[in-house]
Amino acid sequence: MASAPQEQLTSERLAHVRRDADAEVLIIGGGINGLATFRDLALQGIHVLLVERNDFCSGASAASSHMIHGGVRYLENGELRLVKESLQERNRLLAAAPHYVRPLKTTIPIFSVFSGLLAAPFRLLTHTQGKPKERGAFLIKVGLMLYDTFGRDGGRMPRHSFLGRKKSLAQMPYLHPDVKYTATYYDAAMDNPERLALDVLRDGLDAGAHARAANYLSAVGFEGESVVLRDEMTGERFSVTARVVINASGPWTDVTNSGLGMPTQFMGGTKGSHIVLDNTELFEACDGREIFFENSDGRIVLMYPILNRVLVGTTDIPVDMTEEVVCTDDEVDYFFDLVKHVFPGIHTDHSQIVYRYSGVRPLPSSGDTNPGFVSRDYRIVHGRLGETTPVLSLVGGKWTTFRALGEHLADETLDALGKTRSQSTASLPIGGGRDFPLSPSAKAQWASEHAGPISPERAEQLLMRYGTSATRVIADLAVWGDEALEHHPGYSVGEIRSLVANEWVVTLSDIVHRRTSLAFSGQLSHSLLSELAHIMASERRWSNEDISREIMSITVEEGSSQWVLS
Ligand SMILES: Cc1cc2nc3c(=O)[nH]c(=O)nc-3n(C[C@H](O)[C@H](O)[C@H](O)COP(=O)(O)OP(=O)(O)OC[C@H]3O[C@@H](n4cnc5c(N)ncnc54)[C@H](O)[C@@H]3O)c2cc1C
Repeated sequence: MASAPQEQLTSERLAHVRRDADAEVLIIGGGINGLATFRDLALQGIHVLLVERNDFCSGASAASSHMIHGGVRYLENGELRLVKESLQERNRLLAAAPHYVRPLKTTIPIFSVFSGLLAAPFRLLTHTQGKPKERGAFLIKVGLMLYDTFGRDGGRMPRHSFLGRKKSLAQMPYLHPDVKYTATYYDAAMDNPERLALDVLRDGLDAGAHARAANYLSAVGFEGESVVLRDEMTGERFSVTARVVINASGPWTDVTNSGLGMPTQFMGGTKGSHIVLDNTELFEACDGREIFFENSDGRIVLMYPILNRVLVGTTDIPVDMTEEVVCTDDEVDYFFDLVKHVFPGIHTDHSQIVYRYSGVRPLPSSGDTNPGFVSRDYRIVHGRLGETTPVLSLVGGKWTTFRALGEHLADETLDALGKTRSQSTASLPIGGGRDFPLSPSAKAQWASEHAGPISPERAEQLLMRYGTSATRVIADLAVWGDEALEHHPGYSVGEIRSLVANEWVVTLSDIVHRRTSLAFSGQLSHSLLSELAHIMASERRWSNEDISREIMSITVEEGSSQWVLS
C-alpha cells in the first residue's frame, strides 16, 4: 500500500474517475483489446470509462511474441475467417502505425517433402485434433499460396518464395545441413507493443472529456446495480454505474465475472514463455528474418532479431489462473534445444539471457484439445449483472486483430445502447503513426524541422521511439533540458520526466517495462534503476522508503527469474 505522499497523489490521479460516478460504458481491463474498444467507443462520443487493475498493457498483451501476423499455422485448424481478418488487420496496421509495426521477413526451414500431408487436411476438414505431424514442403507450399491470396494487399506485400537446399545454405550458412528447402514470406512485428498500446489509449482520451481511463484501479464487485472499484494504491473503494459493462480482462475473464457475482467458465488459457538472448552469432544467423519452424515435438516455434537481441519462443502449457506464471528452467532448456534444431553449430547458454517473460493466452476453454489446436479466434458472450446491467464478456482475441475486435465489441455495445456508429477506425492512423515520415530522407527532414532545442540526430532518435508524438517530448525538453542519464546515455533526465508527467506512470516498473524497452532489451543495471527511481521521486514526491520499495519490487521480480539484470 502507498505511503502518505503517494496516497495524496493517488487521489489526484483518480479525481477524473471520481468526478462522475455514471458512465454509459465501463470497460474492465486495459490490455490491448480493452484499449482498442475504449478508443473506438470514445471516437463515437460514448461516455466510456476504462479501469485497469495493474498498469495498461501488463497482462497477456505484455507477453506476446510481438508478431502482427495472419497466423499461417491456423490454416491447418481451418480458421480461415481468422487468418483472413488477421492479414487484413496486419496490412492496416503497417499503414496506421508504421512507427511501431514493421514488415518481418519470415523463413521456414523445411526438412521433408510430403510429411503431414494426410494429417493436416484431415484436421482441416474434420476439425479433429491428432498429434501434430511434421509439415512437409508440399503442405507449406499450399498454406503459403492461401496466405498470399488473403494477404497480398493488392500486390503491396511480396509473394512467398521457395529455395532449394544449396541456395538456402548459401543465404543462411548456419542452417542445419539437413535442410531440404526454405520457404520465405512476409509478416509483421512490433518492437515495442506496450508503446503502441499507450498510443491506442491516448487516441481514445484525446477524443474528449467523455472518455476516461485509469490504471491501478480494479473492478472487484457488484452492489445495488453499481460496480465496485478498488484503488490498488490505497485500497480505497468507490462505485460507478454503467449502462453496459464490458469484461475485457483477458485470461482473467472468469475471475472478473466471478468477482462481479456472475460466475462463468469461458476460459482455458495456456502459458507461453519467451527468452531474449544477447548472442551475436545467433543474431547474424537469423539474417534479419524471423525463423519460424516446427520443433522436434511438432510445436511451431520462432526466433527473430529484435532491438539488437534475439527473441526465442514459445511454449503452450495449460495453467491454473490463480497461480503465478513464470518462465521455468525447463522452458529455457526447451528454447536452447530448439535453437540447436535449426542452427546446430550455435552455442546458447544462461549467461546470454537478458530477459525472460511469461504470460497466459486468453483462449476459450476446450476440454482436452491439444493446446496448439485450440481456436485463436474470439467471441463475445452476452450476460447480465444484477437486474438491469448487460455485460459483454470477451473470450479470446489476439494482438494482431485488436482494431477489428474493438470495432466488433463497440458495435455490439452501440446496439445495446440503441446508438449507431459515427466513424470507422479502419484506416485511422494510430498515435505517433499520424504523418509518420517513411523514407530515410523524409525522417531526416522531419527531424530538422522539429528539433527545436535539440540536435536533429536526437530528434530523429525520438521520432523512431515515439513516432510523430515525439513533438510532445521535444516540447518538454525545451523546458527541462536534455541532459543524458548518467547510467544510460540513450535517455535523458528530461525525457524520463516527460514520460512520468504525460504517460500515467505510477511505479518504477511502468517506466522500465512499459514506457521504455530497458528491461526487455537487457539494459538495466542497479545504478540505472536507482537513477530512474530518484527522477520519479522528485516528480511523485516519493520518500526514501518509497524509492527503496520501488527498486526492491523490481529486484524481487529478478529473484523470481522473471527478468535478468545485465
Ligand atoms: C506467449 C504468448 C504469445 C503471444 N503471441 C502473440 C503474437 O505474436 N501475436 C498476436 O497477435 N498475439 C499474440 N498473443 C496473444 C495476445 O498477446 C493476447 O491475446 C492479447 O494481448 C490479449 O489482450 P487482452 O486485452 O484481451 O488481454 P490482457 O492483455 O491480458 O488484458 C486484460 C487486462 O485486464 C486486467 N484485469 C484483470 N482483471 C481485472 C479487474 N478485475 N479489474 C480491472 N482490470 C482487470 C489485467 O490486469 C489485464 O491487463 C500471445 C499471447 C501469449 C501469452
